[in-house]
Amino acid sequence: MPAFMLTIASNIYKQMIDHLWAVYPAEGCGFLSGQNNIATEIHLITNQHHSPTSFYMDPKEQLEALLDMEARQLTLYAVFHSHPDHPPYLSPADWQAAVDWPVVHLVVGLNNPASPQPKHVETKGFIFHDQEIHECPYKIV
Ligand SMILES: [Zn+2]
Repeated sequence: MPAFMLTIASNIYKQMIDHLWAVYPAEGCGFLSGQNNIATEIHLITNQHHSPTSFYMDPKEQLEALLDMEARQLTLYAVFHSHPDHPPYLSPADWQAAVDWPVVHLVVGLNNPASPQPKHVETKGFIFHDQEIHECPYKIV
């Protein structure tokens, strides 16, 4: 039995993937929030690096998103970002971010060149808990 399970509304998952393709080949990022343990809202954040290999969430947009969640009584369930042309793993910087902010970190690999499938999408979740990073399963409903 996994300690954590992230549940994402299918329309929100689709919006996330659509956004990440829209900013491809740069990395995209944002938050998923909701209530009752299901992510039903997406908060898109500008990657100030506009880079295919790193991201830095616009601090002002990040704050606005967190204040919006507070005002609407939404819980932050996940921080997401993409890995254009790479698989979904935690880079050293991602690892540190996951340790510093113990919510689910979703990494979306787009167009992994190792996959025979063009425009391949693979999403993995990770969470820091009990002093370790764990893979966090998720389901789309
Ligand atoms: Zn990353």
